[in-house]
Amino acid sequence: RKAKVTGDRYLLYTKAMTASVADKLTLENQLRRAIENEEFVLHYQPKINIESGKLVSAEALIRWNDPLTGLVPPGCFIPVLEETGLIHEVGRWALHKATEDYLRWRATNLSAVRIAVNVSPLQLRHRDFVNEIGQVIGINTHAAAGLELEITESLIMEDVMHSIVSLKAIRAMGVGIAIDDFGTGFSSLSYLSRLPVDTLKIDRSFVLDMTVSQEGLALVSTIITLAHALKLKVVAEGVETEEQLRLLRILNCNEMQGFLFSKPLPSESFETRFLASPPAG
Ligand code: C2E
Ligand code: MG
Ligand code: MG
Ligand code: MG
Repeated sequence: RKAKVTGDRYLLYTKAMTASVADKLTLENQLRRAIENEEFVLHYQPKINIESGKLVSAEALIRWNDPLTGLVPPGCFIPVLEETGLIHEVGRWALHKATEDYLRWRATNLSAVRIAVNVSPLQLRHRDFVNEIGQVIGINTHAAAGLELEITESLIMEDVMHSIVSLKAIRAMGVGIAIDDFGTGFSSLSYLSRLPVDTLKIDRSFVLDMTVSQEGLALVSTIITLAHALKLKVVAEGVETEEQLRLLRILNCNEMQGFLFSKPLPSESFETRFLASPPAG
C-alpha cells in the first residue's frame, strides 16, 4: 500500500516534469522562430531627473510580439533564452536596435537623452561581449556617451572578478554601467566600492515599502546615502505615487522611473510624446 502511494506520487511527479520539459521545448522552438521572423520589439520607459523634472534617459525593455498571443513580457522568455544560449543573439539585436533608435533621437531635440539597455549576466560573461560593445560604439561614434548598460545585482556578484574586468573595459569606452534591482542581491560593501559602476537602481520592492513602514523608508534612505558616499547616481524604479516621489525628492534621489510618469512605450509613442518640437521663438 505504501509502495503504491509512492508509485502514484512518482507518476504525478514525472508527468509534471515531462510537461514542463515539453513546454520549454515548444517555447524554445517558438523563440527560434521569433528570432527568424524578427518578432522582438523594444519599448522605452523614461527616466526623469527628480530635481529638474526633465527626461534624461530611456530604458529599452524587450517584448516578444507573438502573432498568436500578442505582447509577451520578458519575464516569460528571457530565462529560456538564457538556458538555450539564444540570449546572445537576442541581446545583440537589442543592443543594436536601441543604439539605432538612440541615434535617430539624437538628431532631434531628444539629443540630451541617454539610452539604457538591459544586459544578461551571460552576455557580460561571454568573451566577445566587450568587443561587441566596442563595435556598436565604433560604428556609431556618438553612441558611447549616451549608452548605459543595466546589469542585475545578484548576477554581477556571482562572478565578481570577471565582472570587474569586463565592466572596467566597457566603462573605459565611455559607456555607463548601472546595477539593476539593487538591494535584491547580496553585494558585499567591499565589492560595491570596487565595482566600476556609475549608477544604482533601487529595486521597486524597496520603493513600495518606503511608504509602508519606517523601516522601509530607512532602507531607501540608507541606500541613497551609501550610493552618494560611493559617488554613484541613484535611480528609483517602480515609482507609482506622488507620495513616493515626494519622499525620494527629500532623500535626494537623483532619478525616478515608474508608472507615475510613464509606462514603457512602443518607440513610436515614445517619440510622439517626447519628440514634440519645442515652441518656436
Ligand atoms: P528591470 O530592468 O528591472 O525593468 C523594470 C521592470 O519594471 C519592467 O518590467 C517595467 O515595465 C516594470 N516597471 C516599470 N515601472 C513600473 C511601475 O511603476 N510599477 C510596476 N509594477 N512595474 C514597473 P518588464 O518590462 O516586464 O521587464 C522585466 C525585466 O526583464 C527587466 O527588469 C529586465 O531585468 C528584463 N529585461 C527587459 N528587457 C531586457 C533585455 O533586453 N535584455 C535582458 N537581458 N533583460 C531584459
Ligand atoms: Mg533594467
Ligand atoms: Mg530594475
Ligand atoms: Mg526590477
